[in-house]
Amino acid sequence: MIIPRAEHPISRTLISDNALKVLYRLRDAGYASFLVGGCVRDLMLGHEPKDFDVVTDASPEQIQEVFRNARLIGRRFRLAHIHFGREIIEVATFRGIPTDHDEDEPLHAEGNEEGARPSVRESRHAALSDYNIFGTQEEDALRRDFTVNALYYNIRDFTVMDYVGGVRDLKEGVLRMIGDPRARYREDPVRMLRVVRFAAKLGFLIETATAAPIRELGHLLLEVSPARMFEEVLKLFHGGYSAETYELLRSYDLFRYLFPATDESLASESEGFPRVLLPKALESTDARLAAGKPVNPAFLFAAFLWEPVRLRMDQLVGEGMKDQDALRHAADSVLKDQQRHVSVPKRLSFPMREIWEMQLRFPRRHGKNAARLLEHKRFRAAYDFLLLRAQAGAADPELADWWTRFQEVGPEQRTAMVRALAPAAAGRPKRRRRRRAAGREPG
Ligand code: ATP
Ligand code: MG
Repeated sequence: MIIPRAEHPISRTLISDNALKVLYRLRDAGYASFLVGGCVRDLMLGHEPKDFDVVTDASPEQIQEVFRNARLIGRRFRLAHIHFGREIIEVATFRGIPTDHDEDEPLHAEGNEEGARPSVRESRHAALSDYNIFGTQEEDALRRDFTVNALYYNIRDFTVMDYVGGVRDLKEGVLRMIGDPRARYREDPVRMLRVVRFAAKLGFLIETATAAPIRELGHLLLEVSPARMFEEVLKLFHGGYSAETYELLRSYDLFRYLFPATDESLASESEGFPRVLLPKALESTDARLAAGKPVNPAFLFAAFLWEPVRLRMDQLVGEGMKDQDALRHAADSVLKDQQRHVSVPKRLSFPMREIWEMQLRFPRRHGKNAARLLEHKRFRAAYDFLLLRAQAGAADPELADWWTRFQEVGPEQRTAMVRALAPAAAGRPKRRRRRRAAGREPG
């Protein structure tokens, strides 16, 4: 189906200049050139697209001839990245119906780590098999995941092309898998995470047949590489709709394949305390994104894994270990298990450990401790984490208030605040008291 310019809302003023440049240059070189995927979906809905993806019938080599600033990435299926300062426009060649052996490569370029330049051998291999990788525009549409993600905006006549009923589904607010959902999830289990992400972000319903196999096939996510899972987790929780996404992941029983230990800890709610730290962390992440503030993945991951770390730590303290040692051990073992599912790069795990360790230091404010803590480069994140714990009923609200005031007042008042601390509250609490308190913490 072709939707003429007068019948859809996409205007060129909403398309980035660089994307337009790419589209026009391809067109002028005699190639087909379309916007495709999420950007067309978002433009049709009147949303601002995150990025712009282009498809063409030009081969990667031909794309490179047209653009001197193009870099080919990917192995079997090569894409061109056209760089314009910080903006990258991704240009792909129409992709054909797959043969069995090229199934595992995602249609879309993955994170930077995997987007390495192909070696000479890989390029030759790709060139040899080009004939069965590239295809027609219709074949390209059928390879995409959901109907609303398979619309094309044609730069030649400004029409929208729809091979799969995506325009109707967009109007009805429905996410529908192209083809047989079960087979498409088996082909690429990450599509289960994607459908949930789009449902949360767009507020769309997942069509019945598309939703039906998810619970049963969720376990296939265990076969996806932890590196790819990490990229997906960031998209799931840093897209601005993490609270809804989390609810949906839980209700489709997918969360356990992302954070198994966390999921287990949620199942074993102790003494009726609801686990509210995580939802609160997600709400605050969404609020920060809505306000245009930066978000830190280390903070989010620290929140996800806090409950398992805390449970493990309590256990070790119960066995007689000092709490700081117990925390270090607990962090090691929880992170090690987690890496098998979703990789946690060192640039995250270091700050995560600091955020956790500082939770033990916050109550110990005597002498120079408080002033020292305030100087710590992770203070802000750790303090935000303390606030979350306090809101969740998992840390003493008076302690959180104390730290809030401590930051606001001048040096003399700080000294006075430390002096005014009752000895028991400021120093190391007695072991028995601490353990009982820890055991009752809701998380
Ligand atoms: P976002 O707004 O998150 O960028 P998007 O739909 O653009 O959403 P991308 O990951 O950027 O998602 O992918 C671009 C397009 O590539 C998708 O719209 C879809 O057509 C196709 N695509 C991406 N990943 C897959 C997949 N795993 N299986 C099939 N098609 C995919
Ligand atoms: Mg996109």
